[in-house]
Amino acid sequence: MYPCLRIKMSSEELPGLYIHVPFCGSKCFYCDFYSVCSRSWICAWLKALRTEMALYSEEFPVFDSLYLGGGTPSILDVRELLELFESLAKHFAFSTVSEMTMEVNPESLSHEKLKAVASFGLNRLSLGVQSLNDADLKYLGRRHNSAQALRAFDICRGAGFSNVSVDLIYGLETQSLKSWKNTLDTILEFRPEHISCYQLTFEKSTALWKMRKSGRVRSIGEKMEAAFFIWTSRYLQRRGYRHYEVSNFAAGPEFMCRHNRKYWRHVPYLGLGPSAHSLSIKPMAGDFRDRTLRRWWNVKSVSDYCRLLSEGKKPVEGTEILSKDQFELEALDLGLRTEDGLAMNLVENYPHSQRVLSQWQKSGFIKVSEGRVKPTRRGFLVSDSLAVMLQN
Ligand code: SF4
Repeated sequence: MYPCLRIKMSSEELPGLYIHVPFCGSKCFYCDFYSVCSRSWICAWLKALRTEMALYSEEFPVFDSLYLGGGTPSILDVRELLELFESLAKHFAFSTVSEMTMEVNPESLSHEKLKAVASFGLNRLSLGVQSLNDADLKYLGRRHNSAQALRAFDICRGAGFSNVSVDLIYGLETQSLKSWKNTLDTILEFRPEHISCYQLTFEKSTALWKMRKSGRVRSIGEKMEAAFFIWTSRYLQRRGYRHYEVSNFAAGPEFMCRHNRKYWRHVPYLGLGPSAHSLSIKPMAGDFRDRTLRRWWNVKSVSDYCRLLSEGKKPVEGTEILSKDQFELEALDLGLRTEDGLAMNLVENYPHSQRVLSQWQKSGFIKVSEGRVKPTRRGFLVSDSLAVMLQN
C-alpha cells in the first residue's frame, strides 16, 4: 500500500489536483464529459499519467485537495487503483487537511476497492446516484438501478467513509415533484454529508440532445425547472442542508467541497489526464488584477494523450492568458453562483452598478451584507444572467 505523503501546512490557497479517469462502462444519454467505453486503454493511460505527473511535480509539489473524477474512477480494479496511488505518492505531497475525493458509481463499487482507496488517504466519496426511480435511471441511460444505488451507500459507509456526497439530477420528463421528493426522502434517510442536485441539461452531441431533436424526448420547460429548483432548495434547507452553491448542499460548513471551492475562487489547480483543465497564477501574492492567470487544457483523445506523453511531451491542446476583463467576468459569474457572493468593490467598478444593484435588491435576487453582494435563492436561479446585466 502507498499512503500519500502528508505535509503539515494548511491553506485553502494551496492548489488542488484533478485527475481525469476517462473510462466508463457505457455512455449515459445526457453526458458530455470525455470518456471511452473500453478498458483496453487503462494500462497505457496509467503509464502516461505517471509521466505527466513527473512533468509537473516541480511546479506543483504540494496540494490541498485531490479529486479523482471522470469518467468512472471506480471502474479501475484494485491493482489499477494501487498503481495510480503509487504514482501519486511518488510525485506529489498533500497537506494534512486535504480533502481527497473519488467519484464512484453504484455498479462498479466494492468493499475491497474502497478499502484500498481509504488506505491511500482518500477521505471523501462522490456517489453517482442521479435518481432512486428506475424509470428515471432508464431515461438517463444509467447502468445501475435504485436497489444498487442504495446498496452502494451502505458499501461506502461500511468501508468507513464518513464524508459521502450524492449526485442527483432533476427536471426529467419521467419525474414528478412527488417522485423527486421520494428520491430525496430516501437519500435523506442515509444522511449524506453533501448533496449535489443538477438540473438536467441537453448538451449538444449527447444522445439525449439527439433524442430531443428527433422528438423522442422533451424538456420540461423553464417554468417547471424553476419550480423544481426553488422547491429543492427550500426542502433541503429545512432539513439542515446549507445551499452554498447553485447546485450544491452541505450538511455543515466542514462538508462544503474544498476542491470545487478552488475552482470557484480562482485558486490554482492542476488537471491531469485527457481533457483536464489547469490554472496557474503568478505571482501567488498580491492583488488579483496584477497577477497573470494562465489556463491550459489537455487533448481529449486518450490515444493522443498517451502518444504525446510517450514522446515526452506535455499533452496540452491549448493555453490562454486570462485578461483582466475575462478574469473579472469569471469572478462575477462564479461569485454570483455561491452563497459568499462578491466583494462590493468588484461590483462597484461597473458604471451602472448602483442602478443594477438596486434593481436586483428590489427583485429579491441579492442581499447586501458585510460589504458583499450575496445571491438569494431566487438570485441563484438567474445567476447566469446577473453578471451579464452588470456588464451591459
Ligand atoms: S455520467 Fe458519468 S458514468 Fe455516465 S457516461 Fe458520463 S462520466 Fe460516464
